[in-house]
Amino acid sequence: MRAVQLIEVGKPLELQEIPLPEPGPDEIRVKVLAAGICHSDAHYRAGTASVGFLPITLGHEIAGVVDAVGPSVAGVSVGDRVALHYLFTCGKCEYCARGLEQFCVKGRMVGKHANGGYAEYVVAPARNAIPIADSVSPAAAAIMMCSSATAFHALRKARIAAGDRVAIFGAGGLGMSAIQLARACGATEVFAVDIDQAKLDAAEAYGAHPVDPARGDPARQLHDLTRGRGVDVALEFAGLPVTQAQAVESLAVQGRAALAGISSGPFAVHGYPTLINREAEIVGVSDHLRSELVTLMEFARSGLLDLESVIADRIPLDAGEINARLDALAEFRGRTRSVIVPSGE
Ligand SMILES: [Zn+2]
Ligand SMILES: [Zn+2]
Repeated sequence: MRAVQLIEVGKPLELQEIPLPEPGPDEIRVKVLAAGICHSDAHYRAGTASVGFLPITLGHEIAGVVDAVGPSVAGVSVGDRVALHYLFTCGKCEYCARGLEQFCVKGRMVGKHANGGYAEYVVAPARNAIPIADSVSPAAAAIMMCSSATAFHALRKARIAAGDRVAIFGAGGLGMSAIQLARACGATEVFAVDIDQAKLDAAEAYGAHPVDPARGDPARQLHDLTRGRGVDVALEFAGLPVTQAQAVESLAVQGRAALAGISSGPFAVHGYPTLINREAEIVGVSDHLRSELVTLMEFARSGLLDLESVIADRIPLDAGEINARLDALAEFRGRTRSVIVPSGE
């Protein structure tokens, strides 16, 4: 089969002819119908994040149709349309037993520690399959598995409740999902903070109130916009110390700041006015749970989550096309998602 692989870190991906993978006893083989190109993949190519082995097929946002099943598989059949939860877990360790599967001691990520979706076929544990609702396209299902999932997990970690006011720092792929999901979870007002006017316009089109840092400190603007109250939930996706501090400073009494952007340095806040005197909280966000993907699929089926407008283009399984999209992501030019459609359908 054809697969676009990372052969050497720091070099462009290359199209390879590799053997068709066979599913193990508890595994399924999926014919890939859609594979999202994620910013993480640009990090794996550049070597700023590591992969498990080389050469490896990248791609962790995968949807397709089940093509073969191992002898012990029950509940998933050939012909089923499925998206794949990207984390392969043991199901047995202390973390898995406590429902904290993203911390599984044997956790492996497809497209990083196992061959991924930039290929005609991929093999995965059967329990990683998420059925795709009839009304949801494979491309939408694929990108739901990463950016939407992290956004939803962040909202849940922030214990979002009906009536909350929500601020989203970073209106990229995660932010666009977060705006819709915050509404789906009952937020009455959603604010989007970004320095990119095009992203602010897109956020506004999704119903968020745009906040432009060029017009003054975003935390101050958010307090003004909420009549001095502050926001109940702040989500931080940019991963910058300055926006992490702003997210915390924008909080209301008993507000929660959920930090999901991967940062490269510490941030500072004044503890008494921002945290202690408001009983505010800061919480970290890591990955997501399989159960959240099932809920997201239900949101998409019922129209609460629309990902079609986040899909920038559909491209073939072509190394040149994929490398060009990764270049754009590495240079922060990629505003929305490109999705590989290997069969051209
Ligand atoms: Zn991703
Ligand atoms: Zn485990």
